[in-house]
Amino acid sequence: MSGGSFILRRLGREVANLLWPAQCLVCGKARDELDGGVCITCWGRLLAAPAVERPKTIDRLAVGYSYDDTLRAIIHRFKFEQAPGLARPLAEHFRDRLEQMGFIFLEPIFVPVPAHPARRRERGYNPSALLAKELAALLDLPYRPDIAARVKHTAHQSSLPDGERKRTLKDVFRVAAPDEKTPESARLVLVDDVVHTGRTIGQLAKTARKAGWKQIDAICLCA
Ligand SMILES: [Zn+2]
Repeated sequence: MSGGSFILRRLGREVANLLWPAQCLVCGKARDELDGGVCITCWGRLLAAPAVERPKTIDRLAVGYSYDDTLRAIIHRFKFEQAPGLARPLAEHFRDRLEQMGFIFLEPIFVPVPAHPARRRERGYNPSALLAKELAALLDLPYRPDIAARVKHTAHQSSLPDGERKRTLKDVFRVAAPDEKTPESARLVLVDDVVHTGRTIGQLAKTARKAGWKQIDAICLCA
C-alpha cells in the first residue's frame, strides 16, 4: 500500500469515529472506553471456567474462563475476523485471572499450541501464539514458539467421531528436545486459547514428554 492511501484510509477512519462513536463488538453499544474493541462492562462479564479433566500427560492444568457468549464473541473476532490486536487485552485479563487462581509459574518456558503452517498462512497468524507471546511479555518470561510444530493438518476435532479423533491426532506434533538454552529442569507451559476435550493439548504434552521434557503444565484461556 502506498503512504498516501494509508493516510487517506486512516483519515477516513478517524472521520468515521467522530461521526459514529465506536461500538463494543460484543454488546454493540456505543462506548467511549473500549479495550481491543470491547467495552469495560463486557470485559467485566467474563466468568470462571467449568471444571476440565486434566489429561494425564499434563502436570498442572489451569483454565481461565468459561467459553460463554461474551467470550465466544471476543474469541470469534480474535480468531476468525483478523483482529490480532485482541491478543493484548485477552492476555492481560488472563494474567490477572491466573493470579487470582493462585497459579504460580515455576521456571517456565511458554510454548503455544502450534498451528499448521497452511492454517497460519490462511489466517495470517496463530491466535494461541499471539496470546502466549503477549502473556510472556507481560510476565517477562521466556517465549519459545520454535519448540513445537504441527506437522499434520487436522480437521476440526469437534467435527470428528471419537475413534477418528485419536487416530488423526497421532503424529500431529513435533517437539524439540531440551538443550543448553532450554534445560531439562525448565517446565514447558503449553498455551492454548480454547480447550474442548483436552485431547489436542494432551497429545502435544505427550509428544513433549517423548522428546525428553519432564515437567509440563498447560494454561488455556477458556473452556
Ligand atoms: Zn460491550
